[in-house]
Amino acid sequence: MKRQKIEEVKRKRLKYTLKYVYENCEFYRRQFSGIDLDKITPETISKLPFTTKRDLRNAYPLKMSCVPKEKIVRIQMSGGTTGQPVIVPYTRKDVEQWKEMVLRAFQIAGISSKDVIQITPAFGLWNGGFGFHFAADAINAFVIPIGAGNTRNQIRFMLDFGTTVLCATASYPLRIAEVAEELGYKPSDLPVEKMLLGAEPWSEELRKRIEELFEARTYDIPGLTEMGGVGTVGFECPLRKGLHMWEDNYIVEVVDPKTGETLGEGEEGEIVYTAINREAMPLIRYRSGEVSEIVAIERCECGIEHMTLKRIKGRTDDMIIHSGAKFYPSDVERILASYGITQYKIEVGSEIRILLEGENSILPKLSKDFREFIGINPELVVLSKGTLERFEGKARRLVRL
Ligand SMILES: [Zn+2]
Repeated sequence: MKRQKIEEVKRKRLKYTLKYVYENCEFYRRQFSGIDLDKITPETISKLPFTTKRDLRNAYPLKMSCVPKEKIVRIQMSGGTTGQPVIVPYTRKDVEQWKEMVLRAFQIAGISSKDVIQITPAFGLWNGGFGFHFAADAINAFVIPIGAGNTRNQIRFMLDFGTTVLCATASYPLRIAEVAEELGYKPSDLPVEKMLLGAEPWSEELRKRIEELFEARTYDIPGLTEMGGVGTVGFECPLRKGLHMWEDNYIVEVVDPKTGETLGEGEEGEIVYTAINREAMPLIRYRSGEVSEIVAIERCECGIEHMTLKRIKGRTDDMIIHSGAKFYPSDVERILASYGITQYKIEVGSEIRILLEGENSILPKLSKDFREFIGINPELVVLSKGTLERFEGKARRLVRL
């Protein structure tokens, strides 16, 4: 899609969506009172108020749905461990949109009907596996909808059915590698050629490690349930310049998490999404909690003319502020992974303690890197291999004491 066409579609769909939510959702009627919606364009969208996770909680079960219940074909649920669940309803058209967006990802990654696609995120209320499934099914690929867990079985299926594409959370390949080795295989013995990894931030260093271990190519696939699930909002640039965000479906802004001010290119902040091609519950200026920055708006060298964001660095809730330093777990991961350490845990209390599975001999180097690159002086605790908890879904590596 050419830039000019993207702008045109964006403008038209935003106009339509604003009118649509105003007419069909009481929440937005209240939010937009006193605002002349005809004057709102993608350039002036910051005049509209934000929608927050709290708004979605208050809307439980379906208060923010723009369609009658008969038009809803499924629901998914978003994260958050306490309080009311956050429910996202879908119409048939929304399910189609989800599928279409994942199909774009498949096309960029060169995934076709010849592939054997093993889908390891969960099939359940958390949106995990379904988007991959809808797209893989649509291209008549060989689908293994195995879902989460039972890593030994996952490996057996990879070998027996010749899995070429693995869909997973970003930390899961590490677990697969470990179990494969226990079973007497090298991870590179597995037939997997491509991995679509998402649902949690992962560093370039971790990518390098995974690609070397498996001799496979990895792709970052972002997405959140509130915007329709994994794979809806964008996909990684094939030249690895960042994430291309599908602007004909979402308007993406980056704002200062404290003040809510819109930030420009190259300024790190919180991603705010407006869904302009969804039906059951299109959200306007939704504060995602994801941290990134805009790399460029213009055409990328890969030929894609949608905007480019940096890969997601973390979540605003995961930011650690300690003795003047401000960082994310992914900053710690980057340093550790560069020494081949992929199993770790960060404990934040009055001091910072990092537990890791590695060798004592690298501690001086690690301490130096933590001081230099993050500005912290954590207590480093070396544990023997296999001590820390392993994860088959999203990894939980940050503990606040
Ligand atoms: Zn690109």
